[in-house]
Amino acid sequence: MPELPELQAHAERLTKEFGGLGLAGFRPMTFTALKTVVPAPETLVGRPLDEVERVGKYLMIRFGDDRFVIHLMQGGRLVSDAKQSAKPRGGLARWTFDDGTALLLTEMAKEKRAGVWVVAGDPVDQAPLAGLGPDALDISEQALTEALRDYKSMRVHGFLRDQRAIAGIGRRLSSEVCWRAKISPFASTHKLTAEEIQRLHAAIHACIDEALAFERGRDTMSSSAERPGSVYKRAGEACPVCGDTIRAVEYNAYTVNYCPTCQTGGKVLADNTTSKFLK
Ligand SMILES: [Zn+2]
Repeated sequence: MPELPELQAHAERLTKEFGGLGLAGFRPMTFTALKTVVPAPETLVGRPLDEVERVGKYLMIRFGDDRFVIHLMQGGRLVSDAKQSAKPRGGLARWTFDDGTALLLTEMAKEKRAGVWVVAGDPVDQAPLAGLGPDALDISEQALTEALRDYKSMRVHGFLRDQRAIAGIGRRLSSEVCWRAKISPFASTHKLTAEEIQRLHAAIHACIDEALAFERGRDTMSSSAERPGSVYKRAGEACPVCGDTIRAVEYNAYTVNYCPTCQTGGKVLADNTTSKFLK
């Protein structure tokens, strides 16, 4: 699933490609692609595209004060649509522009979960953005401290992935951030010291900056296998810092990777291996 860096760089690319073009039409291609009824998408037709923005793991196509808000979920993509075929594979919705170009939302998954919301005015307190935590891209140390203290007590890895606690980080970055901060992914958020929070804050920005630089150097959004990293999906390899073996704790929906020497005082955490056999 794309996370903040991939989506941020993609939003910037789309602004470059489609910025200034007038919206000629919007067409949902499935019954569930469009999640809102009011305002009608047609009310945005005729306006120029100002910018493609990103908040958390959402993309927003802004026309004046109103926006199409898009969530790609696991396999969704928002791409330039040169063919404009009548029934594109995985097609969920299409935006056409006055110069004849188009944007296509696709999702290559059996169960379609990606979607589009039309939102009038400030989107922050409206569905689907309402309730998101502070955005990880520019979160201050103070805001991170407050988010950690005010949110329910949980494991750091879970906190980082929880969009209501902090927005934009997913499975890959949460393992990378914990490793870079030298904090156990299973440390309790309410027990972190000020010094550990400082390290966590620095690690969030270092990991995002690195991934964003990689992503900005590309013409298209990377696949998860292409993204650089030090620990995520690298179980069995040597830790780039200390040489210890990177370990994994597997869950049904995701994997936590960590280095025992760097993060858990050498302790190897119980691997939930039964889930491996269910896959
Ligand atoms: Zn290490």
